[in-house]
Amino acid sequence: MANHLYDALFGRHEGSERDFLILPDHGNISYAAFAERAARFAGALVASGLKPGDRVALQLEKSPDMLAVIVGAFRAGIVFLPLNTAYTAAEVEYFVADAGAKLLLCDGRAEPALAPVAAGCGAALAVLNADGTGSFAEAAAVADPLPVAARAADDLAALLYTSGTTGRSKGAMMSHANLLSNAEVLAAYWRFTADDVLLHALPIFHTHGLFVATNVALLAGCPMIFLPKFDADEVIRHLPQATTMMGVPTFYTRLLDDPRLTRDLVAGMRLFISGSAPLLAETHRQWEARTGHRILERYGMTETNMNTSNPYEGERRAGTVGFPLPGVEMKVCDAEGRALPQGEIGTIEVRGPNVFQGYWNMPEKTAEELRTNGFFITGDLGAIDADGYVSIVGRGKDLIISGGFNVYPKEVELALDALPGVLESAVIGVPHPDFGEAVVAVIVPEPGAAPDPEAIRAALGQSLAKFKQPKHIAVRAALPRNTMGKVQKAALRQELRHVFVP
Ligand code: AMP
Repeated sequence: MANHLYDALFGRHEGSERDFLILPDHGNISYAAFAERAARFAGALVASGLKPGDRVALQLEKSPDMLAVIVGAFRAGIVFLPLNTAYTAAEVEYFVADAGAKLLLCDGRAEPALAPVAAGCGAALAVLNADGTGSFAEAAAVADPLPVAARAADDLAALLYTSGTTGRSKGAMMSHANLLSNAEVLAAYWRFTADDVLLHALPIFHTHGLFVATNVALLAGCPMIFLPKFDADEVIRHLPQATTMMGVPTFYTRLLDDPRLTRDLVAGMRLFISGSAPLLAETHRQWEARTGHRILERYGMTETNMNTSNPYEGERRAGTVGFPLPGVEMKVCDAEGRALPQGEIGTIEVRGPNVFQGYWNMPEKTAEELRTNGFFITGDLGAIDADGYVSIVGRGKDLIISGGFNVYPKEVELALDALPGVLESAVIGVPHPDFGEAVVAVIVPEPGAAPDPEAIRAALGQSLAKFKQPKHIAVRAALPRNTMGKVQKAALRQELRHVFVP
């Protein structure tokens, strides 16, 4: 029987003795061994009482077994929701209850805190530790490998909860076809083949490490060097064996801080990809100067998978996210969804086989963001230049309206970042008695530099209109970031909300 996603990802490899996971210091796992493991986890899911369409929640440390449970869920037709390991028990409770999960898998350390959560939600709880121990690993060891369950293109594969920096986190419903269509496009666009070796240091609870990286590798049939997390020493140790790496911008800035990053170290690499947060043009330039490689930046989100990419051949333009991917329609729109003239900044809307089916249990939210004509309102502000390159200028909710004027934080951040002594910056709006909102800049100095806010203000006076200039400049050692490298502007707004009002 056909299983839309599983067959495509594994059909050709199920019996292959080629490496799928290269585990530093722990040996390798072949495609055949991994598929067998996934089939046993699929058996253990079914033995726990789950049927196709039921949900399993995973709050697990990244490990080969976590990935095998995920692939086992694809195989069994069971919908999984991967949860950030940083979530507290109270947060996990919301996800398990919202998804109506029948089973929660967690690490042994979290079991005491999560047992009452699972019980309260009527879900079973089982343990799967990153070292391959735990009650669920034991259940898999004695389970019969499950035959592949039939699943159609539109069947649900996963619920991916959005990071939800404002309001409740929403469960994006991803179908088999959403995931497969995007992986096929990306594998071809980025020229993945079985000869590649993908360095994988991303988390697998998020679309980037989970679907972009893993599904592309599976489709190509190439191995992944599977690191538990990003650790500059480990990445540097393994770069010489790899041909490609997918990372968030902080991977690149941290590697640039390390003198061991040289042309020789990456001589065997063919492609570095960045996404999930904006890559500074300066990082792009520094990376090329140091390594000879131009990073390929792409843009996507949980709800849509990947939407745009810089070209494999042709100019990878720093500060842009490239072109809409084949099959993805993209418009820059006003609030009513009308396309704006080329070059103007507006809300990015996308339509295509990559776009999710809607938010789980939230028909009103779905109706607000997914138009009946199939276009999804991304909430990102951007523009498309005359050559077709897309630029993201920020999230719509980060737009600052000061004295009635729109201020795009990215424009101010770029001006700040170009100043001597400024490593990076974040620009936010905070309440102001006269202007409604005032522009506030948070800057991080370069090592050893002590930029003077007055001098910065004077310098910006040369390049930015008065209403765009920060009315307050705060200096911090680092910007607050989440694990995907995204700057947490909500946290900065909260911290600085009383600068102008009591
Ligand atoms: P997530 O759903 O966690 O993957 O977050 C998606 C959001 O990350 C997008 O809506 C963008 O705001 C941002 N994002 C992803 N890739 C890029 C990129 N290359 N440049 C700028 N922002 C990005």
